[in-house]
Amino acid sequence: MALKYRPGLAERPEYDMDENPYEITLNANESTLNMPPLVEDRLMGRFASVAFNRYPTATDYLNLTEQIAKNFGVQTNQVVLGNGSSELIEKIFYCFGNAKTSKIVFPQPSFSMYSIYAAAAEAQGIPVDLEDDYTFDAEKFVKTCVDNKAALAVVCNPNNPTGTGIPLADIQYIADNLPMSCVFLVDEAYIEFYGQSAMGLLKDYPNMIIARTFSKAYGLASCRVGYAIGSPDVMRMIGRAFMPYHMNTLSLVTADVVYQMRDEYVPRIQMVIAERKRMIEELKKVDGVTVYPSETNFVLFHLNNSEDLTKAFEAASIGVRHFGNAPRLANCLRISMGTRQENDTWLNVLKDFMGGAQ
Ligand SMILES: *Cc1c(COP(=O)(O)O)cnc(C)c1O
Repeated sequence: MALKYRPGLAERPEYDMDENPYEITLNANESTLNMPPLVEDRLMGRFASVAFNRYPTATDYLNLTEQIAKNFGVQTNQVVLGNGSSELIEKIFYCFGNAKTSKIVFPQPSFSMYSIYAAAAEAQGIPVDLEDDYTFDAEKFVKTCVDNKAALAVVCNPNNPTGTGIPLADIQYIADNLPMSCVFLVDEAYIEFYGQSAMGLLKDYPNMIIARTFSKAYGLASCRVGYAIGSPDVMRMIGRAFMPYHMNTLSLVTADVVYQMRDEYVPRIQMVIAERKRMIEELKKVDGVTVYPSETNFVLFHLNNSEDLTKAFEAASIGVRHFGNAPRLANCLRISMGTRQENDTWLNVLKDFMGGAQ
């Protein structure tokens, strides 16, 4: 007998994850370095006092929330924590979804999960094409939101998987020109590698929400911790979408210690930025490769036979992200920044491949 699944579930696309083990894993924009030893030492001390038998307490939540609020000069009731910013983004989509009548606008190509979350929220996802060079047209974006009476407008800045940054002036232009009835979500998953955060705009736009994560610059993908900041009223509503105590104590404690010691991550972030610049320059020198500008911890480039190059990387036990025939990403590869040595390793595989293939 047929099971009575939710309508639309079977049609929902699945996120395509590469679970192969690699010696060099550069396919998910993670930090290639594990926790700094100093941070690990303090964390192990903190773990010793965890009450494993208890549900997470309000204090476990507040310790982290207060730190984040203090850092950005906002109130604690403006901060909501999530299991990765993914959970926050999914819930925010849910909060503005309404049985196929609501519209959610986002750029394309961008984070592939946006269209999946829109479908899950039973909203209509409306992608706005980036330009040919993957730059973002703020006017076109706002016009699409206005024309569609969108409930939610989302941008990813800097953008995954293109790497391109949206200038803060354009973010402000969007905020100024969106109707107040449209929530404006800025996904800043990679902002630490760019610097042009919209955080300073929040106080002027009560319909704006910024989502951040510990998974990328802070190398905490294992823990699934993110946060969103917005106006108290909006964040209170969004908070209703979560079950009570959805975060686990171990992740809360870990993120709390990492955030206390975030200065330890500055040199790593600088290393990633330096490597990104170096690899972009190196890729520019390779005939047949078109590399795009990046403000993130990864680079995106195009070549004619990306599938064969992916196989060459796999043969060398290097995992990179290939997009198959995703819209506007055909023959593109995305590689997260590794250590200098890891980057030299994949560059040499690429150069050998291009030398042989051309
Ligand atoms: C990685 C990423 C996130 C969040 O990841 P979490 O691990 O769930 O915090 C959000 N948006 C984009 C665009 C990302 O690339």
